[in-house]
Amino acid sequence: MTKSLFHLALIFVFLLTSCGNDDNNNNNNNDTDTDTDTDNETGIDGGIATPISAFDEFNPKAVTVSFDGNEIIIESNGLPNHTSPYWPEDNPLHIDKVANNTEVQSPGRIGERSYELTVSSAPELAATGTTTGLGAIGISVSGGPIFNDLEGDNRPIEEVIVENFDYAGAHNGPSGYHYHIESFDVPENTTLSFDDEQLVGILSDGFLLYGRREVDGSYPADLDASGGHFGTTTHSNGVEFYHYHIINEYYFGNVIPLFAGQLQGTPNTIL
Ligand SMILES: [Zn+2]
Ligand SMILES: [Zn+2]
Repeated sequence: MTKSLFHLALIFVFLLTSCGNDDNNNNNNNDTDTDTDTDNETGIDGGIATPISAFDEFNPKAVTVSFDGNEIIIESNGLPNHTSPYWPEDNPLHIDKVANNTEVQSPGRIGERSYELTVSSAPELAATGTTTGLGAIGISVSGGPIFNDLEGDNRPIEEVIVENFDYAGAHNGPSGYHYHIESFDVPENTTLSFDDEQLVGILSDGFLLYGRREVDGSYPADLDASGGHFGTTTHSNGVEFYHYHIINEYYFGNVIPLFAGQLQGTPNTIL
C-alpha cells in the first residue's frame, strides 16, 4: 500500500517535471527575448531568431501576427493608427494639412486593404542582395505598407510631388496609403519614428527596420549599403541579430527614405 502510493507520487512528480520542461522548451523557442544562450545564435534556419517582442509594437487594430512553426505571418488591413489628411474627412483621425507637407494631396483617401507577409522566424542573409520593386516592400508598425524610394514608372520620389507626403512620410496612390520616407518632426507626430531608435516595421525578407539611432542614442557606424548590421535593439535583450536602420543621410531637402537599398535577405511576396 505504502509502496503503491510512493510509486503514484513518483509518477505525479515525473509528470509535473515533464510539463515544466515542455513549457521551458516552448518558451525558449518562442520567447527569444529571454534567451541569452547559444540557442539564439543559430536559429531554426541558421539565421538568428527575430525577437518576438518586436511584434508587440505593431498596431493591434490593423495588424495580426501569428507564429506558425518556423514562420511568422503578418497580416494587415492597412489602416494606420495615426492622424493624416489622407483619412476621409468624416474619420476622427482626419486632420488638416500640417506644415512642411501635403501642399497638394495625391488622389484617393485611406481605406481598408489587405496585406499578408510570411517570413522565416530566423531569417538568413542571402548570398546576394535583391533590388526592391514597386509596391509594398514591408509592413510598418502602423499597419500601412512600406514602399521604397521610387514612384510609379520607377521615377525617384523627388521627381514626384514630394509635397504630397503627410507628416508620417506617406501618401495615397492607386494601391492605397503607403510610406516612402521617415516621418517629420511635427507636434502631430506622437508615435512614428523620427531620428530615434524606434521600430519602423518589418521588410519582406523578414528583417526588422529601425529608426536612425541605436538604443544608446548614437548613429550606428558599421551599417552596410542597405543600412543593415548585426547589433542589439530594444527588443533583443542583448542578443545581436541582423536588422536595418533608416540611413542617416538626407536624400534631398529634409527627406530621408525609409529603405532605398537592396534587401540583404531573401524577399517574400507581400500578398
Ligand atoms: Zn508612393
Ligand atoms: Zn542597430
